[in-house]
Amino acid sequence: MKKFLALLLASVMTMSLLTACGSKSAETETAATEEAAAETTEETAAEGAATSAALADGVLTVGTNAEFPPFEYVDDNGEPDGFDMALIKAIGEKLGVEVVIENMEFASLVSSIGSKIDVAIAGMTVTPERQETVNFSDSYYEAVQYVILPAESDIATADDLVGKTIGVQLGTTGDFIASDIADTTVSQYNKAVDAVNDLINGRVDCVIIDKNPALVFEAKFEGQVVAVEGAQFAFEPEEYAIAMPKDDAALAEQINAALAEIKADGTFDELVKTYIEAE
Ligand code: GLN
Repeated sequence: MKKFLALLLASVMTMSLLTACGSKSAETETAATEEAAAETTEETAAEGAATSAALADGVLTVGTNAEFPPFEYVDDNGEPDGFDMALIKAIGEKLGVEVVIENMEFASLVSSIGSKIDVAIAGMTVTPERQETVNFSDSYYEAVQYVILPAESDIATADDLVGKTIGVQLGTTGDFIASDIADTTVSQYNKAVDAVNDLINGRVDCVIIDKNPALVFEAKFEGQVVAVEGAQFAFEPEEYAIAMPKDDAALAEQINAALAEIKADGTFDELVKTYIEAE
């Protein structure tokens, strides 16, 4: 509604300018309209900023677990980096707030929202259990669990996972899936890479983890491990989204608006190319 009014106002202003000056060129008219359109776009994401408790101080404190490449990892400068970090910074820019990253254990993220952190971005899958505690943004990435195996392994189907020792990252969907398989021993790690190291050392039979990190580890430990598609084990697709407090509807609206703009203006595809497809 606001956008419509702004556009209407812009065209009325342009028209009166044209009438007043008589001979304004079509070029000027286009420029003025585009400028007005750009202003309204900026307004969309920042609209209502004052009503979001999380954004009131001008800082968005974001929790992550920087052990999940390519979505988040600690870079050579010791800073959290990766697709999710770039995405949330782009969202912060749209909302006109500073983004501060808090690196913590994955299993602590959901319970820290609304106290230690405002939101969490961590390749986090939308699940009904998590939705009891937090709100999720619109989803931004489709994922699925993969199985990482030693280069030589007999495991090939869901039935082969029965009774096995399975490495997972604590509190993840991979952890939940492994725990549901009959007779398994589930070894939970805070860092995914530690699970993969134990796979290489023969302490676990396989690791269940999301597709993209699985592919990163397969490349990192080339020749030692292989990453096998989740479809082969009948794993269902998952959706990543930003986890937010339940009681801040204004924040959800603004984050979704910013995300939509980032998808529409090509920024999102650029980030996919830089962080995910480059791996
Ligand atoms: N997508 C998985 C989950 O949400 C794993 C996320 C992660 O380890 N960062 O549980």
